[in-house]
Amino acid sequence: MDYFSDTMSKLIAELSKLPGIGPKSAGRLAFHILDMPAEEVESLANALTAAKKNIRYCKTCCTITDEEECPICRSSKRDHSVIMVVENARDLAAYEKTGKFNGVYHVLQGAISPMLGIGPSDIKLKELVERLRGDVKEVIIATNSSLEGETTAMYISKLIKPAGIKVSRIASGVPVGGDLECIDEVTLLRALEGRVEI
Ligand code: ZN
Repeated sequence: MDYFSDTMSKLIAELSKLPGIGPKSAGRLAFHILDMPAEEVESLANALTAAKKNIRYCKTCCTITDEEECPICRSSKRDHSVIMVVENARDLAAYEKTGKFNGVYHVLQGAISPMLGIGPSDIKLKELVERLRGDVKEVIIATNSSLEGETTAMYISKLIKPAGIKVSRIASGVPVGGDLECIDEVTLLRALEGRVEI
């Protein structure tokens, strides 16, 4: 890193902090940015700042949105008595892409992981329990089939069952540790339709 100017080294160091970007890729990106027209660089920088500043959690389902409440929670065409619980907004997007789920979502913004020290109070569980006071018929748990996803599913099931609400888990068509986002729509649909009550 000492071969470059301080400014360049700083840019490479910042880019290396991004997931999946090693020092080599960071260097390539930094040189690419240097070659970009000034207005494109500014536009990129503005998009980054605006994203951080304007994006917040939906007050109902905790997904990321620009407004107080996301379009899905606001829609009167959706069945608000069926809530699908997912780990993150990317999983929500994967289910939305199938176009076959007409309920609403709850985005946990993570999963319980004793190994990483992430407990129930570190994800959006309190917000989910709060929603169950309303008219909810079914909660579909669509967390990943990783150890963390299963732990979270079990925890939620135990938490909700006493309230007398139907709790189901998506079928195991989803590969273990599979990121829902990377699974094709047919597999997702099959997982949803084959869900079992737990
Ligand atoms: Zn919402």
